[in-house]
Amino acid sequence: MSAGLQQDMIYSELEEIVGSAYISNSESEKLVYSTDWFWLPQMWLDRGERLRPPDYIVRPSSAEEIAEILKIANSYKIPVIPWGGGSGSQGGAVPVFGGIMLDVKRLNKVLEIDERSLTVTAQAGINGTQLEWAVNEKNLTLPHYPASANCATLGGYLAPRGSGTISTKYGKAEDLVLSMQVVLPNGEIIRTPKVPNHAGGPDFYRLFLGSEGTLGVITEATMQLDYLPETRLFRALLFDDLSKALEAGRLMVTRRLEPTVIRLYDQKSTLSQVKKVLGYEFDGAYMVIGFDGDPDIAALQEQKALALCADLGAQDLGREPGEAWWQHRYDFYYPPKGLHFPWMYGTTESVTTFSNIEKLYYAQKEAVEMTYHDWDVDYIGHFSHWFHWGTMVYSRFIIKHPPEDAHEALKLHNRIWNTAVSAALENGGMVNEHHGVGLKLSRFMRRQYGDAWPMLERIKDALDPQGIMNPGKVGFGGLK
Ligand SMILES: Cc1cc2nc3c(=O)[nH]c(=O)nc-3n(C[C@H](O)[C@H](O)[C@H](O)COP(=O)(O)OP(=O)(O)OC[C@H]3O[C@@H](n4cnc5c(N)ncnc54)[C@H](O)[C@@H]3O)c2cc1C
Repeated sequence: MSAGLQQDMIYSELEEIVGSAYISNSESEKLVYSTDWFWLPQMWLDRGERLRPPDYIVRPSSAEEIAEILKIANSYKIPVIPWGGGSGSQGGAVPVFGGIMLDVKRLNKVLEIDERSLTVTAQAGINGTQLEWAVNEKNLTLPHYPASANCATLGGYLAPRGSGTISTKYGKAEDLVLSMQVVLPNGEIIRTPKVPNHAGGPDFYRLFLGSEGTLGVITEATMQLDYLPETRLFRALLFDDLSKALEAGRLMVTRRLEPTVIRLYDQKSTLSQVKKVLGYEFDGAYMVIGFDGDPDIAALQEQKALALCADLGAQDLGREPGEAWWQHRYDFYYPPKGLHFPWMYGTTESVTTFSNIEKLYYAQKEAVEMTYHDWDVDYIGHFSHWFHWGTMVYSRFIIKHPPEDAHEALKLHNRIWNTAVSAALENGGMVNEHHGVGLKLSRFMRRQYGDAWPMLERIKDALDPQGIMNPGKVGFGGLK
């Protein structure tokens, strides 16, 4: 049978499931779905190179339709790539081996809001901001506020273990999920128990958090909500010593002052990013702290935080530069203020314990700045997403004049990532904290997990013996 004939047969089988309006193989759609927000494939297209597009774009409306699609994919042994908003920065939704692009955005319903238990159950393809508006109508909020909320989906929050602006108080997306419906690679539809904090066996549903479409398709999730806070307080501080600023952050979380935000820019970020986006010319490490909820409690928490910052030599800049940051917090990531072509850039974020964070930051900074000095590289960072035991560094490299040749640019890009991720892993850090693995970091998974890695490979083989689910991602290989 010729490839064209077989492709048409598969097309017609998929069309039977979703209907002719919800399947496409047009060249323009294939181009659109050939890259997410990963710099490398975007650069590839920008330089006139071709990418492997998906063969079919399919838009199912239910878990049952997804189950049927996965059965077809198994019988023909073709890849299936779940696609939410396509805003991922790791190449997780890039169809490196072609196949079926499974756009889940038609699964966009809010199914139930439980105003007593403060939960929402929604389909996984719902847009983040639309979900937020729906719960806001009940005076509630899903306290996961990523900069990508307008272009990301609920499933896309969970599949790569995302983090939002106020995660320091409320947790990552993975901490807010109570249960999920998942379509397994063989087409079985499962629902994990509605109550997560029991002692009835292992917490296996967490396997799907971070699986990035390699172990199944998340079709519904029940998420924990909060009341919209009565007050939100922001304040900015300036430290002349990054080490003291990190200590202030550590004390705020370990003393359980419950900050919603501690956003600490290193000196270079303060001089470049903060100046560009907010217009302030501060010389030092600029920190924004936030508290929310009951006005009296938030004011007391803020007062305690300010006192410990003052003890560490911080200058209190007052409310205005803290509130301005909150108003413009997403401007850092979008035109005209965000990073853009033809620059080469990447967010080499990592996370580690308080004991290791400075070591990691300086090791990564020195390795990137020294090794790529000839490229006039900029290494900047801020510290956000604080835990009781440590914090994350949102580090970035920027090269304003990268090689023009796409192949040379790719080599340089990957070398910088090797340097930055090695520095993180060698200093107690992880490959990242919230952007996921995707295609970009796939090659580091074995190294990050060491002896534990083969267990995950065995789970993958058991759930997806033919390797159809998002091949080439999260450290797993291609089709079997
Ligand atoms: C401007 C900008 C700002 C960003 N800011 C943040 C931020 O603040 N915090 C943050 O965490 N991330 C951020 N990101 C990264 C990214 O947007 C998030 O990870 C986002 O949650 C991805 O959602 P999505 O729906 O676009 O997923 P996609 O990009 O479509 O998919 C991401 C991965 O998840 C898989 N996937 C998607 N949906 C499903 C599903 N239903 N079931 C199984 N697998 C699925 C895909 O196959 C892919 O591997 C940002 C990105 C951009 C472009």
